[in-house]
Amino acid sequence: MSILIKGGTVVSVTGAVTADVLVDGEVIAAVAAPGTLSEVDEVIDATGKYVLPGGIDPHTHLDMPFGGTVTIDDVESGQTSAAFGGTTCHVDFIIQPQGATFAAAVDEWKAKANGKQVIDMGYHMAVTDLKDGGTLEELATLPDEGITSYKLFMAYKGALMVDDETLFRTMETASQTGALVMVHAENGDVIDVLVKQALEAGNTDPLYHALTRPPEAEGEATNRAIQLAHLADAPLYVVHVTCREAVEPIARARDAGWDVWGETCTQYFFNSLDDIAKPNFEGAKYVYSPPVRDQSNWDVLWNAVRTDVLSAISTDHCAFLWDGQKTMGKDDFSKIPNGGPGLENRLQMIHEFGVRARRISLNRMVELLSTNPAKLFGLYPRKGTIAVGSDADIVVFDPEQTVTISAATHHSKSDYNLFEGTEVTGVPEVVLLRGQVLVEDGELVASPGVGQFVARAKFGEELKPEEVTA
Ligand SMILES: [Zn+2]
Repeated sequence: MSILIKGGTVVSVTGAVTADVLVDGEVIAAVAAPGTLSEVDEVIDATGKYVLPGGIDPHTHLDMPFGGTVTIDDVESGQTSAAFGGTTCHVDFIIQPQGATFAAAVDEWKAKANGKQVIDMGYHMAVTDLKDGGTLEELATLPDEGITSYKLFMAYKGALMVDDETLFRTMETASQTGALVMVHAENGDVIDVLVKQALEAGNTDPLYHALTRPPEAEGEATNRAIQLAHLADAPLYVVHVTCREAVEPIARARDAGWDVWGETCTQYFFNSLDDIAKPNFEGAKYVYSPPVRDQSNWDVLWNAVRTDVLSAISTDHCAFLWDGQKTMGKDDFSKIPNGGPGLENRLQMIHEFGVRARRISLNRMVELLSTNPAKLFGLYPRKGTIAVGSDADIVVFDPEQTVTISAATHHSKSDYNLFEGTEVTGVPEVVLLRGQVLVEDGELVASPGVGQFVARAKFGEELKPEEVTA
């Protein structure tokens, strides 16, 4: 099967050129001047459209037990919403159950995805317990299986949080095995004190979720993780950076040439304390961690992604129902499951408020949403670029069409959307995964099972594209 994507503007990190893209089987076989390629089975007219490398979301939680419930999107519904949003690969978190080996955790997560995959995916391993379950020796074997990043929670005391010994020993292991260390950087001990004090004072509304997780707690943990990773000689990626207090230590480390990167998520540019303060428990929709911040941080984050202090934008998609799951915390904000939906809206929101609002270039958008995640997480150049030999993961994006984002039309099972009612211009019109059309004319045209697990390369190494034998 060959497909010719004709006459679109092919966008990369460094340029944007009008070209035809030939897809042969699962890979890109040629990128050439318009009209110079022929003899194909199918033609997609991309005149006036952008041709983008498929989005890569390095931070999602599908089918994950958390806070006494399970996220509402499983692999099928979560990945379907991703496909409609122009994301063709993501890296999900395996959470090591307390007392379980890493191998058991990997098996459990792969079983949950089996047969349901709509897009390609990899896994990070979230290390929660090195005493009763997995060992450092076992952890060291994961990169050889294509699980090349270790995640540690410095927050969620009594649940996912690790102590500094576990954090540091995992970093030392990563420095030996070629894994990238990822941290959720908030000081969980301090937050635990503040939460108890708020509840004792009778402050139970969702707003107190944000007020008990102040920016200082994120800044302190970010700086601690950076210093410990430098000591352990491990590369570090700080997930979901939200505020100046965390951006500044990352900027300092990067200025010094340390192996430190940071990401933020779509929602931190748009949601704020005004949202979580909404009455009638509506604020619970915006309960995720780190929390929404005051609006002064929006410009801090835009500047950080523009200047490469932050190198990627993810979604931290961790979807729950408002009615039935978030309401578990109706009388106690600390019982509200943390997380929100977002896999579907990243490209449209960043295109609208980043590119169209002239905060970042079209090229930088591609870099933040696809190329950098591919490079940092061992998927490049097989993914993250439109180049000969790379997987034909392609989004034909109509930059003129206008739609309104709403839970009524999104594909997540969540009953709300963080960006409800936002009008955006720009729609992923056709989405291809390894040469197969996933989304066309607003319909999912591929069946679950088309997506695959991708064994990622070790940190700093390339994932070789398939040899093209056309
Ligand atoms: Zn997360």
